Amino acid sequence: MEKALDLPQANSVPDAHGHFGPFGGMFVPETLMAALRELDEAYALARGDDAFQEELDFLLREYCGRPTPLYFAERWTEELGGARIYLKREDLLHTGAHKINNALGQILLARRLGKKRIIAETGAGQHGVATATVCARFGMDCVIYMGRVDMERQALNVARMRFLGAEVRGVEAGQATLKEAVNEAMRDWVTNVRSTHYILGSALGSHPFPMMVRDFHRVIGLEAREQIMLKEGRLPDLLVACVGGGSNAIGLFHPFLGDEGVRMTGVEAGGDGITRGRHAARFQGGRLGVLQGTKTWLLADDDGQIELTHSVSAGLDYAAVGPEHAWLQERGRVDYTFATDKEALAAFQELAGTEGIIPALETAHAMAHVSKVAGAMKRDRLIIVNCSGRGDKDVAQAARHVFGEELKL
Ligand SMILES: *Cc1c(COP(=O)(O)O)cnc(C)c1O
Repeated sequence: MEKALDLPQANSVPDAHGHFGPFGGMFVPETLMAALRELDEAYALARGDDAFQEELDFLLREYCGRPTPLYFAERWTEELGGARIYLKREDLLHTGAHKINNALGQILLARRLGKKRIIAETGAGQHGVATATVCARFGMDCVIYMGRVDMERQALNVARMRFLGAEVRGVEAGQATLKEAVNEAMRDWVTNVRSTHYILGSALGSHPFPMMVRDFHRVIGLEAREQIMLKEGRLPDLLVACVGGGSNAIGLFHPFLGDEGVRMTGVEAGGDGITRGRHAARFQGGRLGVLQGTKTWLLADDDGQIELTHSVSAGLDYAAVGPEHAWLQERGRVDYTFATDKEALAAFQELAGTEGIIPALETAHAMAHVSKVAGAMKRDRLIIVNCSGRGDKDVAQAARHVFGEELKL
């Protein structure tokens, strides 16, 4: 099999400064430039180093459980009555989501750089759990920044991180969600940059993060490609994934970008519908701007103030989208749409009831889109949807919405 970090030349955007066309770049304080350059160089060397590659592949296999299955959702396919639906089961990966692909890759890099302390931000808590997990595995100090509101929504993941030995620092500022957690993590990094590596959790932020995070998740698409060829003897017609920062989506999409016949749809969080402040769908009413290190599509008002966002899923509740997605949208290579909270909750129940798989609420946004389009497609068409994570962490929240019950966990 092709090694996960071997990139076909044609897809080797961004340029040396991290530009994906007009998007991306390095919008950071001067104090961080040296660290980002160091990281960029270390990553370039690691990517070309067989030993790094082999250790990463070994740990992905033995520790994380790769390859994940490409599962034919037979009952769901029958129920929708159209295209054949395959789920790429990232929910079966260690810690329950795709996030560990990136956390593992980055901690191996941090070790190469001689860094002993790791910081990260987290929204739903999944990236915090993945980071705390690899820190435990490699014996590194770990501090996770998390908004107070998210800590309440995701209490289970907070407890998991603490058992894994991480210090979880609650952030009270602003909306007390992901954006504020990222600000705190950046502040920490500026102060402690010599000893500390920042494991950014999505395909976002300053170069080299969007490229590096993408590369660590490309394994999703590389496996899916090989698996669908084995099962169906041809490439899929449609790929679907939810888009927060965009890491699980770019991981699935990237290895197929050169295949003209493969259409792709990214699904953002439509919240209560596309009304200002009530959603997190950056391509619906967003604008071009700079946030937390990168130039991209984001939700801001006329004065450039970042708008409030809302989603039932903490992991999609962020004002900016990864710069490579902005570029893919501008070129028309990937379509972006949204699913509302209501549609995501319905898909959450639909997948649980037909396939016995409880998806994360983030993932349920992708499922909601499949639910809308699969029935209208011919029966010989093929869809691969990224099942980015499992929904155990979301059961209490879903129960509140669906049954009107408060679970005492
Ligand atoms: C974090 C998360 C997401 C959203 O992040 P991306 O970087 O857009 O992938 C989606 N699904 C799950 C299960 C997550 O944990």
